[in-house]
Amino acid sequence: MGEKLLVIDEGTTSTRAMLFAPDGTVLGSKSAELKQSYPGPGLVEHDAAEIWTKTLACAQAMVEKAGGADQIAAIGITNQRETLVFWDRTSGEPLAPAIVWQDRRSADICRTLKEAGEEPGVQARTGLLLDPYFSGTKIAWAMRNWPQLREAGDRLALGTIESWLVWKLTQGLHITDATNASRTLLMGLGSGAWSDGLIDLFDAPRDALPEIVDCAGRFGVTKLFGGEIPICGLAGDQQSATIGQACLSKGETKATFGTGAFVLTNAGTSPPTSKNRLLATCLWQLNGRRAYALEGSVFVAGSLIQWLRDSVKLIEKAQETEALARSVEDNGGVYLVPALSGLGAPWWQPEARAAISGLSFSNGKAHIVRAALEAMAHQSHDLKTAFAADGADWATLRVDGGMVTNDWIAQDLADMLDVTVERPAFAETTALGAAMLAGIGCGMFKGLEEAAAMRGKVEMFEPKLGAPARDARLAGWKHAVRSVIE
Ligand code: ADP
Repeated sequence: MGEKLLVIDEGTTSTRAMLFAPDGTVLGSKSAELKQSYPGPGLVEHDAAEIWTKTLACAQAMVEKAGGADQIAAIGITNQRETLVFWDRTSGEPLAPAIVWQDRRSADICRTLKEAGEEPGVQARTGLLLDPYFSGTKIAWAMRNWPQLREAGDRLALGTIESWLVWKLTQGLHITDATNASRTLLMGLGSGAWSDGLIDLFDAPRDALPEIVDCAGRFGVTKLFGGEIPICGLAGDQQSATIGQACLSKGETKATFGTGAFVLTNAGTSPPTSKNRLLATCLWQLNGRRAYALEGSVFVAGSLIQWLRDSVKLIEKAQETEALARSVEDNGGVYLVPALSGLGAPWWQPEARAAISGLSFSNGKAHIVRAALEAMAHQSHDLKTAFAADGADWATLRVDGGMVTNDWIAQDLADMLDVTVERPAFAETTALGAAMLAGIGCGMFKGLEEAAAMRGKVEMFEPKLGAPARDARLAGWKHAVRSVIE
């Protein structure tokens, strides 16, 4: 048996297969774009059949690159979370479009349940909130509105994307891992099992649900690549990135700064409870034992730079921002609150709108750009405060995503958060996490600590800014935020 690890990284806009050596070296990568369907306001759908055929083609290319199925020790799968697929167990074909995590069609169902006072109970059991984002209310909507699902009776199967891919790869194994299951609103966060009460609340067809399994193990084999390859690792994308960043101890935190920013803090082995509207979620399940995370998101991160480039035309390229920020001594009193689509934690003001404040004749383009970059650390600081209030303060911050290729931003995060910021040389942390899990599942690594060597070299950014300067900036930021929410 070979010792290469094949990772399937099925994202929202593209699907990808990557081939890893046990030391974390990438041996190959192949990706394909996925069609996004927007059939109406707030509706976002994917074609599950397309996801499968494109994923299969990418995986096939990597098997060939590896020199055949016998060169591959195991497959690891990581996926866009919450997106839901309905299929027919007999034909193995989708029965309806896949409802994507961004889809808002179940907003009315959420509102009705909230008005009925269900949210505190749902949050206590699942760690989640009543929002169309999560799969449970999407199931409720689909069962009410798509008669073919009820008509399918016992033939109906449903699951998140990793569940669908495992079914197709193994031709009939119906499982989901605990990290993906923890995003459905149907799993008890403490028990790791489907909850009958929640199944009733969301009117979910119990017999159509997959079995909840660990994130690593020998789940089944695929025979589609000219030999048998075991499927040994499964995790949702943000959890996979947290594992890929080796946040293995309580307090260790990863933040991905892409279009938006997603932050997960390892919260230890008991389910955390948020009083600040952060999400509690399963970080991994190994040998039946779960680790948990608190999760928070900043809506606008890299999209702010895209907006400055494409709509305001202040810059031509995102990369210019670093030199511009360095060209001035400080922000010159300018603050940018990037509430272009409302403000997230801890403000939770969906109606708030963005502002650039503190401008005077002495300011120019560089100050505005610097204020935009500073907003990343300011928003992260607000999030850190919410995490700390929930008992999960950040010990370190491990960063990835397109924005933190910018050294200035990485250093500013260290300065403003007053923690060491670590940036791995290998940025594909989501795929790496799935490779680590696959390596554990096939027995290549004893556990997460051993697998974490795959992460490789990291660059450290140590806090250098004194407390008075930090406090002054935070005071300016607070003032600016108040002006957009009051
Ligand atoms: P996603 O995975 O969400 O598509 P990426 O992780 O690829 O996002 O990050 C891309 C984002 O990072 C873009 O929004 C872009 O504006 C921003 N970005 C890329 N390079 C820089 C840079 N040097 N400085 C600031 N922002 C950057």
